[in-house]
Amino acid sequence: MTDKLPETEAEWREKLTPEQYHVLREHGTERAFTGKYESNKAPGMYFCAGCGAPLFSSDKKYNSGSGWPSYTDPVAPDAVEELRDVTHGMVRTEVRCAKCEGHLGHVFPDGPGPTGLRYCINSASLDFKPKD
Ligand code: FE
Repeated sequence: MTDKLPETEAEWREKLTPEQYHVLREHGTERAFTGKYESNKAPGMYFCAGCGAPLFSSDKKYNSGSGWPSYTDPVAPDAVEELRDVTHGMVRTEVRCAKCEGHLGHVFPDGPGPTGLRYCINSASLDFKPKD
């Protein structure tokens, strides 16, 4: 976790798989129901695939039916940054890793928890470690 973060896009390309690079660095979106964590129900922690920061706990994961891993909350309020995103003809709130600014997904106001939020996150931006 003390690894120095890449500074250039060339370094990011070297560090990440093409799919991780597309999502994290190019704000890509994996196709629904194709991500490796969409239906993962194991207890554990989801870390940023870019920098290793802890982002989401399995405790807050739920099945939204959307086709992407969905959470009611990040592991800590300052683990993620939220930015207004007006691309693709929609007004959405983008979610980024607060440490490396990698694109994770979006947050929507239709979640089930007390916050009413749905963090809709690409599997490709995450690295799951099961609880031991
Ligand atoms: Fe990160």
